[in-house]
Amino acid sequence: MATGITRREGLKLAGASALGAATMAAAGTARAQPGSDRGPFDVAVVGAGVFGAWSAWMLAKAGYRVALIDQYGPANARASSAGESRVTRMSYGADAIYSEMAARSLLHWQALSARCALPVFHNTGVLWFSPPGDEYMRQSIAWLDTNGHPYWRGDTQALRQRFPQMRFADGEEGFVELETGALIAGRAVQTVVKESGAPLVIARAGPPRKQRDGSYLVAEGVAARHVVYACGPWLGKLFPDVLGGRIVPTRQEIMHFGSAPGDARFAPPAMPVWADNNAGDIAYGLPDLENQGFKIAFDRHGPEVDPDSQDRRLTPAMVDQAREYLSRRFPDLADAPLIHGRVCQYENSSNGDFLIDRLPGHDNVWLVGGGSGHGFKHGPAVGELVSRHIAEAGLAVEPRFSLETKGTSAARSVY
Ligand SMILES: Cc1cc2nc3c(=O)[nH]c(=O)nc-3n(C[C@H](O)[C@H](O)[C@H](O)COP(=O)(O)OP(=O)(O)OC[C@H]3O[C@@H](n4cnc5c(N)ncnc54)[C@H](O)[C@@H]3O)c2cc1C
Repeated sequence: MATGITRREGLKLAGASALGAATMAAAGTARAQPGSDRGPFDVAVVGAGVFGAWSAWMLAKAGYRVALIDQYGPANARASSAGESRVTRMSYGADAIYSEMAARSLLHWQALSARCALPVFHNTGVLWFSPPGDEYMRQSIAWLDTNGHPYWRGDTQALRQRFPQMRFADGEEGFVELETGALIAGRAVQTVVKESGAPLVIARAGPPRKQRDGSYLVAEGVAARHVVYACGPWLGKLFPDVLGGRIVPTRQEIMHFGSAPGDARFAPPAMPVWADNNAGDIAYGLPDLENQGFKIAFDRHGPEVDPDSQDRRLTPAMVDQAREYLSRRFPDLADAPLIHGRVCQYENSSNGDFLIDRLPGHDNVWLVGGGSGHGFKHGPAVGELVSRHIAEAGLAVEPRFSLETKGTSAARSVY
């Protein structure tokens, strides 16, 4: 996608004060930088969703001069990182790589929440339940045991006793991760952006255009020696030759239902975040946090959509499906009013693994995305890894995050 400016204009703008471009927004305050504040930035991060925000934060804290560019603004309503809440959990079955990233990230979320006026993390715990003998549950518990993370575990009877507001089928088992819970998504991203101190540019960036001094021009007025494209579901549109069909945005609907006045059974501490893990067909939800209602969603991929223009109205069929589920599992919410909802999109890689690799032919240009419906919680760890790649040119790309491993036919294996 061309930015519509000539190379000459770009050089002129890039050579001006880093804060001089008219498109700079006030959300981030420029940090005092060692050396000149003129000329190319050290790093331009394109995309102020959770991956870009934490990348900018980590890079800025490491001393780089960073610019953050977003076409619609941090955690805008079209972004995958938008909205009220996200689950953070460490259970990932056999995928210890994500358990470790989630555990590392949690430390950052807790610290961020502790220094904010309003929380970005609610330690509600996360309840997983499934039919007997579930391998994902066994592997998740084994990881928690090995790594010393506390949990509560119960059979059907214990689940019924602990969560009388829910219904469990005979034989079902469950466990509650005790340290995790929910993140307040939009607030968290906007706070991280602000804390990063990186100047924010509201513009649609184009593919990197190499300049004579070796830096890249990415948007009007912004040139940098390194570029991180953390464009979420837009990655395939921006780099159709490389990522078309490899990062696929799918429509996802979430709904919030309202419990009766004074009914505390569907809010913390009575109700944790929960996930009904039925052989990969996952229904999940969050308790009523910050008076936003009881959230429910299904983790199945919807149809492919365009993140710029998809219709964001809930479909009656999805609301019916949620009501049917509520009547089985949360019967006292079966007739609860739908108080609000949101249509978003996942940005899926073929199997659910992230993408953190170089744009082919460009040593200093990074593609970061593929959150695939589970990326939010990992923002800090992703940012940390991006920052390390920029600091250490020889750091090997994690094979699971490589471009090479990103296929074009869906074969989801990470949940
Ligand atoms: C309904 C739903 C539920 C989810 N639940 C969970 C959950 O419970 N737990 C969890 O961990 N994860 C969850 N996820 C996944 C998680 O939210 C995403 O994986 C994550 O937010 C992706 O972040 P991102 O930064 O990659 O993308 P985004 O948040 O989409 O950010 C990309 C940004 O790039 C900008 N951009 C794109 N192209 C350009 C350009 N050319 N120029 C300038 N700016 C550009 C966009 O405007 C956008 O702001 C869920 C996702 C959805 C949709």
